[in-house]
Amino acid sequence: MIKKNNFNPIKLIKYYKFINHNLIYNNTAINRYKRDNFEISANKAHSLVRLKKSINLIKNCSLKASAKNMVFSDGNPKSKIMLLGEAPGANEDQEGLPFVGRAGALLDKMLSSINLDRKNVYISNIINYRPPENRKPTDEEIKRYLPFVKNHIEIINPKILVLLGSTAMNALIGNEVVISKVRGNWIEKKFGNCTTSVIVTFHPAFLMRQPAQKKMAWIDLKMIRDKKAKLKI
Ligand code: URA
Repeated sequence: MIKKNNFNPIKLIKYYKFINHNLIYNNTAINRYKRDNFEISANKAHSLVRLKKSINLIKNCSLKASAKNMVFSDGNPKSKIMLLGEAPGANEDQEGLPFVGRAGALLDKMLSSINLDRKNVYISNIINYRPPENRKPTDEEIKRYLPFVKNHIEIINPKILVLLGSTAMNALIGNEVVISKVRGNWIEKKFGNCTTSVIVTFHPAFLMRQPAQKKMAWIDLKMIRDKKAKLKI
């Protein structure tokens, strides 16, 4: 009997592109976002400006006192794929953009492994200001920013929402779930008028600490690639 040969060199190259990145020697992000002029409807632009202003007006948040900049978003607001991380770190605080440090470099490689980049996804965080010493945001902080995150999702209206890590997962799916069980599944969720397919995957910073988990993240990435093809987006 002839054994079926499943070897696919293209798939293998893509996998190694993701798995074999060399963060020790090279931390620079690839395809670093350049400020493109994405043409969005006046309505969407207005809603995003209004949301940014309301975040700027949040009172009683101590994070604002220590942060240098608000980190609102990066990427293409027209995209049907939205990613949400946890909170800005030092590099993000400095630049005012999400995922521009070491975790961002890995995120870019993860996106690139499924032919995506910051021109065709939209990226934000649960919290818009850097928590001091990069500590985890408190429940109170998450609760304070959650209405703004939900509004952000509604404005972008993604068909695919990728939650990076357990903070984003707990904020939007609930505290009773664990990432190892939830990841790798599609969950249909409604945020106001936006109905979207949500997938949870590991945060790139976690993957840098636990590289053995990259094989699970690769499964999630392939699910995103296949869903994108299925939805023709
Ligand atoms: N980690 C996050 O969750 N978000 C960022 O923007 C950077 C690192």
